[in-house]
Amino acid sequence: MNEYDSNRILDLANKIDYTVTKELSEANCYILNTCHIREKATDKVYHDIGRLKKNFRNKVKPIVLVAGCVAQAEGDILLKKEKYIDAVIGPQSYHKINETILKLEKKFKSINMTEFDVVEKFDTLNNIKNLDNKVSSFLTIQEGCDKFCKFCVVPYTRGAEYSRSIEELIQEANQLVDNGAREINLLGQNVNAYNYREKKLSDVITAISKIKNLDRIRYTTSHPKDFTEDLIAVHKNCKKLMPMVHLPVQSGSNKILKSMNRNHTVEDYINVITKLKKTRPDIKFSSDFIIGYPGETFEDFKKTIELMNEVQFINSFSFIFSPRPGTPAFNLDEINQNDAKNRLTNFQLIAQKIKNNYRKKLINKKTKVLFENKMKIGNQYFGRDEYFNSVIVESNEDLTGKIKNIKILKGDHNSLYGEVASNINETNYAA
Ligand code: SAM
Ligand code: SF4
Repeated sequence: MNEYDSNRILDLANKIDYTVTKELSEANCYILNTCHIREKATDKVYHDIGRLKKNFRNKVKPIVLVAGCVAQAEGDILLKKEKYIDAVIGPQSYHKINETILKLEKKFKSINMTEFDVVEKFDTLNNIKNLDNKVSSFLTIQEGCDKFCKFCVVPYTRGAEYSRSIEELIQEANQLVDNGAREINLLGQNVNAYNYREKKLSDVITAISKIKNLDRIRYTTSHPKDFTEDLIAVHKNCKKLMPMVHLPVQSGSNKILKSMNRNHTVEDYINVITKLKKTRPDIKFSSDFIIGYPGETFEDFKKTIELMNEVQFINSFSFIFSPRPGTPAFNLDEINQNDAKNRLTNFQLIAQKIKNNYRKKLINKKTKVLFENKMKIGNQYFGRDEYFNSVIVESNEDLTGKIKNIKILKGDHNSLYGEVASNINETNYAA
Protein backbone atom coordinates (compact mmCIF):
# COMPACT_ATOMS: atom_id res chain seq x y z
CA MET A 1 0.00 0.00 0.00
CA ASN A 2 2.92 2.32 0.63
CA GLU A 3 4.03 1.75 -2.95
CA TYR A 4 0.58 2.82 -4.17
CA ASP A 5 0.64 5.83 -1.81
CA SER A 6 4.14 6.84 -2.92
CA ASN A 7 3.01 6.81 -6.57
CA ARG A 8 0.00 8.94 -5.73
CA ILE A 9 2.15 11.38 -3.74
CA LEU A 10 4.25 11.71 -6.87
CA ASP A 11 1.14 12.26 -9.05
CA LEU A 12 0.16 15.07 -6.66
CA ALA A 13 3.64 16.62 -6.45
CA ASN A 14 3.84 16.67 -10.26
CA LYS A 15 1.14 19.33 -10.12
CA ILE A 16 3.59 21.73 -8.47
CA ASP A 17 6.37 20.67 -10.84
CA TYR A 18 8.18 18.22 -8.60
CA THR A 19 9.46 15.10 -10.35
CA VAL A 20 11.62 12.13 -9.36
CA THR A 21 15.36 12.67 -9.58
CA LYS A 22 17.72 10.02 -10.86
CA GLU A 23 20.14 10.52 -7.97
CA LEU A 24 19.30 11.13 -4.33
CA SER A 25 21.83 13.96 -4.17
CA GLU A 26 20.01 15.88 -6.95
CA ALA A 27 16.77 16.18 -4.94
CA ASN A 28 15.66 19.37 -3.28
CA CYS A 29 12.73 17.66 -1.58
CA TYR A 30 12.93 14.27 0.08
CA ILE A 31 9.80 12.32 1.09
CA LEU A 32 10.32 9.25 3.20
CA ASN A 33 7.22 7.03 3.16
CA THR A 34 7.29 4.77 6.20
CA CYS A 35 5.74 1.61 7.64
CA HIS A 36 5.13 1.08 11.36
CA ILE A 37 3.96 -2.53 11.39
CA ARG A 38 6.98 -3.93 13.24
CA GLU A 39 9.65 -2.40 15.48
CA LYS A 40 12.79 -0.71 14.18
CA ALA A 41 10.62 1.35 11.80
CA THR A 42 11.42 4.55 13.68
CA ASP A 43 15.13 3.64 13.95
CA LYS A 44 15.10 3.22 10.18
CA VAL A 45 13.75 6.76 9.77
CA TYR A 46 16.57 8.21 11.90
CA HIS A 47 19.08 6.06 10.02
CA ASP A 48 17.80 7.28 6.63
CA ILE A 49 17.86 10.89 7.81
CA GLY A 50 21.46 10.35 8.94
CA ARG A 51 22.31 9.12 5.44
CA LEU A 52 20.62 12.17 3.95
CA LYS A 53 22.56 14.52 6.19
CA LYS A 54 25.79 12.93 4.97
CA ASN A 55 24.69 13.22 1.33
CA PHE A 56 23.79 16.87 1.72
CA ARG A 57 26.77 17.93 3.84
CA ASN A 58 28.07 21.27 2.50
CA LYS A 59 25.05 21.51 0.20
CA VAL A 60 21.69 23.27 0.51
CA LYS A 61 19.50 21.23 2.87
CA PRO A 62 16.60 19.59 1.00
CA ILE A 63 13.02 19.85 2.24
CA VAL A 64 12.51 16.70 4.31
CA LEU A 65 9.09 15.15 4.88
CA VAL A 66 8.31 11.92 6.70
CA ALA A 67 5.08 10.36 5.43
CA GLY A 68 3.21 7.13 6.27
CA CYS A 69 2.41 5.30 9.47
CA VAL A 70 5.55 6.23 11.45
CA ALA A 71 4.64 9.88 10.83
CA GLN A 72 1.09 9.16 12.02
CA ALA A 73 2.19 7.32 15.16
CA GLU A 74 5.16 9.42 16.18
CA GLY A 75 4.58 12.79 14.48
CA ASP A 76 5.53 15.33 17.15
CA ILE A 77 8.22 13.09 18.64
CA LEU A 78 9.96 12.92 15.25
CA LEU A 79 9.73 16.67 14.74
CA LYS A 80 11.16 17.38 18.19
CA LYS A 81 13.92 14.77 18.08
CA GLU A 82 15.20 15.35 14.56
CA LYS A 83 15.28 18.97 13.45
CA TYR A 84 16.32 17.91 9.93
CA ILE A 85 12.70 16.75 9.45
CA ASP A 86 10.56 19.67 8.28
CA ALA A 87 7.14 18.04 8.25
CA VAL A 88 5.30 14.84 9.09
CA ILE A 89 2.33 13.78 7.01
CA GLY A 90 0.05 10.84 7.88
CA PRO A 91 -1.36 8.24 5.45
CA GLN A 92 -4.80 9.88 5.48
CA SER A 93 -3.46 13.42 4.99
CA TYR A 94 -1.06 13.05 2.09
CA HIS A 95 -3.41 14.81 -0.31
CA LYS A 96 -2.12 17.93 1.50
CA ILE A 97 1.44 17.23 0.35
CA ASN A 98 1.55 20.15 -2.07
CA GLU A 99 0.32 22.80 0.37
CA THR A 100 2.85 21.41 2.87
CA ILE A 101 5.73 21.59 0.38
CA LEU A 102 4.73 25.10 -0.69
CA LYS A 103 4.69 26.22 2.96
CA LEU A 104 8.09 24.66 3.53
CA GLU A 105 9.44 26.47 0.47
CA LYS A 106 8.42 29.63 2.32
CA LYS A 107 10.44 28.49 5.34
CA PHE A 108 7.57 27.37 7.57
CA LYS A 109 8.86 24.89 10.14
CA SER A 110 7.81 21.67 11.88
CA ILE A 111 4.48 21.06 10.13
CA ASN A 112 2.36 18.23 11.51
CA MET A 113 -0.32 16.94 9.09
CA THR A 114 -1.77 13.85 10.72
CA GLU A 115 -5.54 14.31 10.58
CA PHE A 116 -7.75 11.42 9.40
CA ASP A 117 -9.24 12.99 6.26
CA VAL A 118 -9.72 9.82 4.20
CA VAL A 119 -12.84 11.08 2.36
CA GLU A 120 -11.14 14.34 1.46
CA LYS A 121 -8.00 12.43 0.46
CA PHE A 122 -9.75 10.24 -2.10
CA ASP A 123 -11.89 13.17 -3.32
CA THR A 124 -8.63 14.96 -4.12
CA LEU A 125 -6.95 11.90 -5.63
CA ASN A 126 -9.92 11.11 -7.87
CA ASN A 127 -9.32 14.36 -9.68
CA ILE A 128 -5.69 13.56 -10.34
CA LYS A 129 -4.80 11.01 -12.99
CA ASN A 130 -2.95 7.95 -11.75
CA LEU A 131 0.22 8.00 -13.85
CA ASP A 132 1.59 4.65 -12.71
CA ASN A 133 2.66 2.81 -15.85
CA LYS A 134 3.77 -0.52 -14.50
CA VAL A 135 2.62 -3.75 -16.16
CA SER A 136 1.42 -4.88 -12.74
CA SER A 137 -0.17 -2.01 -10.85
CA PHE A 138 -1.67 -1.55 -7.41
CA LEU A 139 -5.09 -0.04 -6.83
CA THR A 140 -6.20 0.79 -3.28
CA ILE A 141 -9.90 0.03 -2.95
CA GLN A 142 -10.23 -0.02 0.83
CA GLU A 143 -8.26 1.38 3.74
CA GLY A 144 -8.14 1.12 7.49
CA CYS A 145 -9.40 -1.57 9.79
CA ASP A 146 -12.11 -2.02 12.42
CA LYS A 147 -10.91 -5.44 13.59
CA PHE A 148 -8.43 -4.41 16.28
CA CYS A 149 -6.26 -7.50 16.49
CA LYS A 150 -4.41 -6.92 19.73
CA PHE A 151 -0.95 -6.84 18.19
CA CYS A 152 -1.63 -4.50 15.27
CA VAL A 153 -1.09 -0.75 14.76
CA VAL A 154 -3.16 -0.46 11.58
CA PRO A 155 -6.46 0.61 13.20
CA TYR A 156 -4.56 3.44 14.93
CA THR A 157 -2.36 4.58 12.05
CA ARG A 158 -4.67 4.09 9.04
CA GLY A 159 -7.91 4.66 10.95
CA ALA A 160 -11.38 3.17 10.49
CA GLU A 161 -12.44 1.05 7.51
CA TYR A 162 -13.22 3.09 4.44
CA SER A 163 -14.25 1.80 1.00
CA ARG A 164 -13.93 3.85 -2.17
CA SER A 165 -16.86 4.07 -4.56
CA ILE A 166 -16.97 1.40 -7.26
CA GLU A 167 -17.31 4.09 -9.95
CA GLU A 168 -14.05 5.79 -8.98
CA LEU A 169 -12.32 2.40 -8.86
CA ILE A 170 -13.43 1.54 -12.39
CA GLN A 171 -12.26 4.95 -13.56
CA GLU A 172 -8.83 4.51 -11.96
CA ALA A 173 -8.50 0.91 -13.18
CA ASN A 174 -9.18 2.15 -16.73
CA GLN A 175 -6.47 4.79 -16.32
CA LEU A 176 -4.00 2.13 -15.21
CA VAL A 177 -4.82 -0.12 -18.17
CA ASP A 178 -4.54 2.86 -20.53
CA ASN A 179 -1.08 3.46 -19.04
CA GLY A 180 -0.09 -0.13 -19.86
CA ALA A 181 -1.17 -2.24 -16.88
CA ARG A 182 -2.04 -5.84 -17.74
CA GLU A 183 -2.50 -6.85 -14.12
CA ILE A 184 -4.16 -5.00 -11.25
CA ASN A 185 -3.66 -5.92 -7.62
CA LEU A 186 -6.59 -4.62 -5.55
CA LEU A 187 -5.36 -3.44 -2.18
CA GLY A 188 -6.78 -2.99 1.28
CA GLN A 189 -5.65 -3.67 4.83
CA ASN A 190 -8.80 -5.75 4.85
CA VAL A 191 -9.53 -5.90 1.18
CA ASN A 192 -12.44 -8.34 1.49
CA ALA A 193 -14.15 -6.09 4.04
CA TYR A 194 -14.76 -3.78 1.06
CA ASN A 195 -18.31 -2.52 1.28
CA TYR A 196 -19.57 0.42 -0.70
CA ARG A 197 -23.36 0.78 -0.78
CA GLU A 198 -23.80 -3.02 -0.63
CA LYS A 199 -21.16 -3.57 -3.31
CA LYS A 200 -18.54 -6.11 -2.24
CA LEU A 201 -15.04 -7.09 -3.35
CA SER A 202 -16.56 -9.68 -5.72
CA ASP A 203 -18.48 -6.84 -7.44
CA VAL A 204 -15.28 -4.82 -7.86
CA ILE A 205 -13.50 -7.86 -9.36
CA THR A 206 -16.38 -8.56 -11.75
CA ALA A 207 -16.61 -4.90 -12.77
CA ILE A 208 -12.94 -4.40 -13.53
CA SER A 209 -12.63 -7.80 -15.25
CA LYS A 210 -14.70 -6.26 -18.06
CA ILE A 211 -11.86 -3.90 -18.94
CA LYS A 212 -10.41 -4.91 -22.28
CA ASN A 213 -6.61 -5.46 -22.21
CA LEU A 214 -6.63 -6.20 -18.49
CA ASP A 215 -5.56 -9.83 -18.17
CA ARG A 216 -5.00 -10.48 -14.52
CA ILE A 217 -6.59 -9.49 -11.22
CA ARG A 218 -5.29 -10.15 -7.72
CA TYR A 219 -6.31 -8.83 -4.32
CA THR A 220 -4.53 -8.49 -1.02
CA THR A 221 -4.79 -8.70 1.99
CA SER A 222 -7.91 -10.58 2.92
CA HIS A 223 -9.21 -11.67 6.32
CA PRO A 224 -10.73 -15.14 6.94
CA LYS A 225 -13.78 -13.65 8.64
CA ASP A 226 -14.77 -11.62 5.58
CA PHE A 227 -14.45 -14.48 3.09
CA THR A 228 -18.05 -14.49 1.91
CA GLU A 229 -19.67 -16.98 -0.51
CA ASP A 230 -19.80 -14.42 -3.35
CA LEU A 231 -16.02 -13.95 -3.10
CA ILE A 232 -15.48 -17.71 -3.17
CA ALA A 233 -17.77 -17.99 -6.20
CA VAL A 234 -15.99 -15.27 -8.15
CA HIS A 235 -12.89 -17.49 -8.13
CA LYS A 236 -14.83 -19.83 -10.39
CA ASN A 237 -16.64 -17.25 -12.46
CA CYS A 238 -13.89 -14.77 -13.23
CA LYS A 239 -11.11 -16.24 -15.36
CA LYS A 240 -8.98 -13.13 -14.95
CA LEU A 241 -8.81 -13.65 -11.19
CA MET A 242 -5.57 -15.46 -10.36
CA PRO A 243 -5.80 -18.80 -8.50
CA MET A 244 -3.65 -17.60 -5.61
CA VAL A 245 -4.93 -16.18 -2.32
CA HIS A 246 -2.88 -14.52 0.40
CA LEU A 247 -4.84 -15.30 3.54
CA PRO A 248 -3.05 -14.50 6.80
CA VAL A 249 -3.80 -16.82 9.70
CA GLN A 250 -1.15 -15.71 12.26
CA SER A 251 -1.34 -18.89 14.41
CA GLY A 252 -2.55 -22.49 14.31
CA SER A 253 -3.70 -22.39 17.93
CA ASN A 254 -7.26 -21.38 18.77
CA LYS A 255 -6.12 -20.22 22.20
CA ILE A 256 -3.63 -17.78 20.62
CA LEU A 257 -6.08 -16.66 17.92
CA LYS A 258 -8.56 -15.83 20.68
CA SER A 259 -6.02 -13.89 22.71
CA MET A 260 -5.03 -12.02 19.54
CA ASN A 261 -8.71 -11.07 19.04
CA ARG A 262 -8.60 -12.52 15.52
CA ASN A 263 -12.28 -13.42 15.64
CA HIS A 264 -11.83 -16.67 13.77
CA THR A 265 -10.75 -20.18 14.69
CA VAL A 266 -8.41 -22.57 12.89
CA GLU A 267 -11.51 -24.54 11.82
CA ASP A 268 -13.08 -21.39 10.30
CA TYR A 269 -9.85 -20.83 8.41
CA ILE A 270 -9.66 -24.40 7.08
CA ASN A 271 -13.31 -24.15 6.12
CA VAL A 272 -12.56 -21.15 3.84
CA ILE A 273 -9.58 -22.97 2.30
CA THR A 274 -11.67 -26.10 1.67
CA LYS A 275 -14.48 -24.14 0.01
CA LEU A 276 -12.02 -22.27 -2.20
CA LYS A 277 -10.34 -25.51 -3.26
CA LYS A 278 -13.69 -27.02 -4.12
CA THR A 279 -14.57 -23.98 -6.21
CA ARG A 280 -11.19 -23.69 -7.91
CA PRO A 281 -9.21 -26.95 -7.54
CA ASP A 282 -5.92 -25.45 -8.75
CA ILE A 283 -5.94 -22.65 -6.15
CA LYS A 284 -2.92 -22.15 -3.86
CA PHE A 285 -2.34 -20.14 -0.71
CA SER A 286 0.17 -17.96 1.07
CA SER A 287 -0.09 -16.64 4.60
CA ASP A 288 1.33 -14.49 7.43
CA PHE A 289 2.36 -15.95 10.79
CA ILE A 290 3.29 -14.35 14.08
CA ILE A 291 5.61 -16.60 16.06
CA GLY A 292 6.09 -16.25 19.83
CA TYR A 293 2.97 -14.26 20.62
CA PRO A 294 2.58 -13.68 24.40
CA GLY A 295 1.27 -16.88 25.99
CA GLU A 296 2.38 -19.13 23.08
CA THR A 297 3.50 -22.49 24.49
CA PHE A 298 5.42 -25.12 22.56
CA GLU A 299 2.07 -26.97 22.15
CA ASP A 300 0.54 -23.86 20.53
CA PHE A 301 3.55 -23.52 18.26
CA LYS A 302 3.26 -27.17 17.21
CA LYS A 303 -0.31 -26.46 16.12
CA THR A 304 0.98 -23.68 13.85
CA ILE A 305 3.38 -26.17 12.26
CA GLU A 306 0.52 -28.66 11.86
CA LEU A 307 -1.49 -26.01 10.03
CA MET A 308 1.48 -25.20 7.79
CA ASN A 309 1.82 -28.90 6.92
CA GLU A 310 -1.89 -29.32 6.37
CA VAL A 311 -2.42 -26.37 4.02
CA GLN A 312 1.01 -26.58 2.30
CA PHE A 313 1.31 -22.81 1.81
CA ILE A 314 3.46 -22.11 -1.22
CA ASN A 315 4.69 -18.91 0.35
CA SER A 316 4.63 -17.43 3.83
CA PHE A 317 5.76 -14.41 5.80
CA SER A 318 6.66 -15.13 9.40
CA PHE A 319 7.96 -12.82 12.10
CA ILE A 320 8.47 -12.89 15.84
CA PHE A 321 5.79 -10.92 17.67
CA SER A 322 6.85 -7.29 17.86
CA PRO A 323 5.24 -5.28 20.70
CA ARG A 324 3.86 -2.09 19.20
CA PRO A 325 3.34 0.92 21.48
CA GLY A 326 -0.32 1.85 21.78
CA THR A 327 -1.68 -1.63 20.99
CA PRO A 328 -3.29 -3.83 23.70
CA ALA A 329 -0.64 -6.55 23.27
CA PHE A 330 2.14 -4.07 24.04
CA ASN A 331 1.77 -4.62 27.79
CA LEU A 332 1.56 -8.42 27.67
CA ASP A 333 4.50 -10.45 29.00
CA GLU A 334 6.68 -11.57 26.11
CA ILE A 335 7.76 -15.20 25.92
CA ASN A 336 11.43 -16.11 26.27
CA GLN A 337 13.04 -14.51 23.21
CA ASN A 338 15.46 -17.38 22.64
CA ASP A 339 12.51 -19.76 22.44
CA ALA A 340 10.79 -17.35 20.04
CA LYS A 341 13.89 -17.19 17.80
CA ASN A 342 14.29 -20.98 17.78
CA ARG A 343 10.63 -21.45 16.92
CA LEU A 344 10.88 -18.93 14.07
CA THR A 345 13.96 -20.70 12.68
CA ASN A 346 12.20 -24.08 12.89
CA PHE A 347 9.06 -22.73 11.35
CA GLN A 348 10.86 -21.07 8.46
CA LEU A 349 12.81 -24.26 7.72
CA ILE A 350 9.55 -26.20 7.41
CA ALA A 351 7.97 -23.44 5.33
CA GLN A 352 10.99 -23.38 3.03
CA LYS A 353 10.94 -27.17 2.63
CA ILE A 354 7.29 -27.07 1.57
CA LYS A 355 8.06 -24.23 -0.85
CA ASN A 356 11.06 -26.11 -2.30
CA ASN A 357 9.02 -29.30 -2.78
CA TYR A 358 6.33 -27.32 -4.56
CA ARG A 359 8.89 -25.61 -6.77
CA LYS A 360 10.65 -28.86 -7.64
CA LYS A 361 7.41 -30.09 -9.14
CA LEU A 362 7.36 -27.07 -11.46
CA ILE A 363 10.63 -28.02 -13.17
CA ASN A 364 10.06 -29.06 -16.80
CA LYS A 365 6.43 -27.91 -16.55
CA LYS A 366 4.90 -25.03 -18.48
CA THR A 367 3.47 -21.96 -16.78
CA LYS A 368 1.92 -18.71 -18.01
CA VAL A 369 4.07 -15.72 -17.13
CA LEU A 370 3.22 -12.04 -17.40
CA PHE A 371 6.48 -10.17 -17.93
CA GLU A 372 6.85 -6.93 -16.01
CA ASN A 373 10.25 -5.54 -16.94
CA LYS A 374 13.67 -6.07 -18.48
CA MET A 375 16.31 -6.69 -15.86
CA LYS A 376 19.64 -4.93 -15.59
CA ILE A 377 21.63 -7.99 -16.57
CA GLY A 378 21.80 -9.01 -20.25
CA ASN A 379 18.57 -9.85 -21.98
CA GLN A 380 16.79 -11.13 -18.90
CA TYR A 381 13.13 -10.40 -18.31
CA PHE A 382 11.29 -10.56 -15.00
CA GLY A 383 7.72 -11.75 -14.71
CA ARG A 384 5.28 -13.64 -12.52
CA ASP A 385 3.28 -16.76 -13.11
CA GLU A 386 -0.34 -17.12 -12.01
CA TYR A 387 0.80 -18.13 -8.51
CA PHE A 388 2.88 -14.97 -8.07
CA ASN A 389 6.16 -16.89 -8.43
CA SER A 390 8.97 -14.75 -9.84
CA VAL A 391 10.14 -16.11 -13.18
CA ILE A 392 13.24 -14.99 -15.07
CA VAL A 393 13.73 -15.67 -18.76
CA GLU A 394 16.36 -14.73 -21.28
CA SER A 395 14.99 -13.45 -24.57
CA ASN A 396 15.97 -11.35 -27.57
CA GLU A 397 12.35 -10.32 -27.98
CA ASP A 398 11.08 -7.54 -25.68
CA LEU A 399 8.77 -9.49 -23.38
CA THR A 400 7.59 -6.54 -21.29
CA GLY A 401 3.81 -6.55 -20.94
CA LYS A 402 3.43 -9.91 -22.66
CA ILE A 403 2.06 -13.20 -21.36
CA LYS A 404 4.12 -16.18 -22.50
CA ASN A 405 4.05 -19.88 -21.95
CA ILE A 406 7.30 -20.61 -20.14
CA LYS A 407 9.00 -23.92 -19.58
CA ILE A 408 10.62 -23.89 -16.13
CA LEU A 409 14.19 -25.19 -16.20
CA LYS A 410 15.42 -24.56 -12.65
CA GLY A 411 14.77 -22.56 -9.51
CA ASP A 412 16.43 -21.07 -6.44
CA HIS A 413 15.07 -19.56 -3.19
CA ASN A 414 13.86 -16.41 -4.91
CA SER A 415 13.06 -17.17 -8.52
CA LEU A 416 12.28 -19.72 -11.16
CA TYR A 417 14.24 -19.68 -14.42
CA GLY A 418 12.83 -20.79 -17.75
CA GLU A 419 12.60 -20.41 -21.48
CA VAL A 420 9.84 -19.29 -23.79
CA ALA A 421 7.88 -22.38 -24.81
CA SER A 422 5.24 -20.86 -27.04
CA ASN A 423 3.21 -17.75 -27.53
CA ILE A 424 -0.20 -17.49 -25.98
CA ASN A 425 -2.90 -15.55 -27.69
CA GLU A 426 -2.52 -12.31 -25.78
CA THR A 427 -6.21 -11.75 -25.33
CA ASN A 428 -6.48 -15.23 -23.94
CA TYR A 429 -8.74 -14.61 -20.97
CA ALA A 430 -12.46 -14.17 -21.30
CA ALA A 431 -14.14 -11.91 -18.72
N1 SAM B 1 -5.12 -7.33 7.61
C1 SAM B 1 -4.29 -8.43 7.43
C2 SAM B 1 -4.78 -9.59 8.27
O1 SAM B 1 -5.49 -9.38 9.21
O2 SAM B 1 -4.41 -10.68 8.06
C3 SAM B 1 -2.84 -8.18 7.77
C4 SAM B 1 -2.29 -6.84 7.60
S1 SAM B 1 -0.88 -6.54 8.58
C5 SAM B 1 -0.63 -4.94 8.01
C6 SAM B 1 0.38 -7.50 7.83
C7 SAM B 1 1.01 -8.56 8.70
O3 SAM B 1 1.91 -7.98 9.61
C8 SAM B 1 0.06 -9.33 9.59
O4 SAM B 1 -0.58 -10.37 8.90
C9 SAM B 1 0.95 -9.85 10.70
O5 SAM B 1 1.41 -11.15 10.45
C10 SAM B 1 2.10 -8.86 10.70
N2 SAM B 1 2.09 -8.07 11.95
C11 SAM B 1 1.25 -7.08 12.29
N3 SAM B 1 1.51 -6.63 13.52
C12 SAM B 1 2.56 -7.36 13.98
C13 SAM B 1 3.29 -7.38 15.19
N4 SAM B 1 2.99 -6.56 16.19
N5 SAM B 1 4.30 -8.26 15.32
C14 SAM B 1 4.62 -9.12 14.30
N6 SAM B 1 3.97 -9.14 13.14
C15 SAM B 1 2.95 -8.27 12.97
FE1 SF4 C 1 -4.24 -5.45 11.69
FE2 SF4 C 1 -5.25 -7.11 9.85
FE3 SF4 C 1 -5.97 -7.37 12.40
FE4 SF4 C 1 -6.80 -5.26 11.01
S1 SF4 C 1 -7.33 -7.43 10.64
S2 SF4 C 1 -6.02 -5.23 13.07
S3 SF4 C 1 -5.02 -4.88 9.69
S4 SF4 C 1 -3.91 -7.69 11.50
